[in-house]
Amino acid sequence: MENIQHHPLVIVGAGPAGLSAAIYAARAELKPVVVTGMTLYGQVSLTNTIENYPGFPDGIGGPELGELFETQAKRYGAELVYDVVQSIDVSSRPFTVKLLETTLTSDALILTMGADPNKLQIPGEDRLVGRGVSYCATCDGWFFKDKNIHVVGGGDSALEEALFLTRFASSVTIIHRRDQLRAGILLENRARKHPKIHFMWNTVVREIRGDEATHSLLVENVQSGIQEEIPSDGIFIFIGHHPNTAILGEEFKLTAQGTLEVDDHLQTNVPGVFAAGDVADPLYRQVVTSAGMGAAAAISATTYLESLEE
Ligand code: NAP
Repeated sequence: MENIQHHPLVIVGAGPAGLSAAIYAARAELKPVVVTGMTLYGQVSLTNTIENYPGFPDGIGGPELGELFETQAKRYGAELVYDVVQSIDVSSRPFTVKLLETTLTSDALILTMGADPNKLQIPGEDRLVGRGVSYCATCDGWFFKDKNIHVVGGGDSALEEALFLTRFASSVTIIHRRDQLRAGILLENRARKHPKIHFMWNTVVREIRGDEATHSLLVENVQSGIQEEIPSDGIFIFIGHHPNTAILGEEFKLTAQGTLEVDDHLQTNVPGVFAAGDVADPLYRQVVTSAGMGAAAAISATTYLESLEE
């Protein structure tokens, strides 16, 4: 017989947004259920040290911060289900969230599935993550003090993060596949004027090389086809993110950036379905902003559930 469990509120995703939503919803006595998905604690679980989350002046390990969020959520009665969502049906009430062997139904949903950085998908990239390959300057920039590093991408993220990385690195070379940037003119002007920033135009990275740590990149000029190996202490890749919305049906409206469209109450276009964190944030994508959005979504969901009882 199918195992179906009903809960007032189901939260999909257990990163800072999902777990903060769980803390707030649990304290509102909603007994929320959080489905963790494959990456418990989301992107923070992949981050060595988080130094910009308020309350931890000496920094805190990403997984450690995730564990604290989890402990706090459970303390107030949230339940974590370590399972992976197979499908979400919001076409009728209650909503249905199918897991591997269980089906959850709920009166309200908070979607916090996060986003994943796009990868170059080149040799060496996966193997050297955390050893010279990074997708987060704010998280890892500090480890590249006085190093020669490279940034891939020509958008706002690449330039903004390259400018941030100049605080640490002795030189930051932006590798872009065209000879024109996609980034806004203000950022472009700031980057072009910066003495530590250099550009490699019409260039793509074909391979990241190194044994214990990154030591060089194999780059190719896309016009001449000439390849060369250049020394590099680290490579930061900013070629866009993809919000994890693939599991959702077409009834959800997305923004031009592919994030879930939400209103001022963090409600999606489906009444009773709220979203928070990177899946609904095209702009900030910080642990603290995700946590804030999670709290706000839980407050909105609580108000929504109260309105159903009236
Ligand atoms: P983006 O605007 O999509 O730019 C991605 C960049 O990566 C582009 O330059 C693209 O090259 C390059 N790229 C994509 N795939 C690649 C590949 N496989 N190999 C090499 N290069 C590749 O992404 P984003 O910079 O993350 O920005 C996302 C959104 O957030 C944008 O709307 C942006 O304006 C916004 N944002 C705003 C700010 C700000 O206002 N301060 C800061 C960050 C982000 P092409 O140019 O050739 O396509």
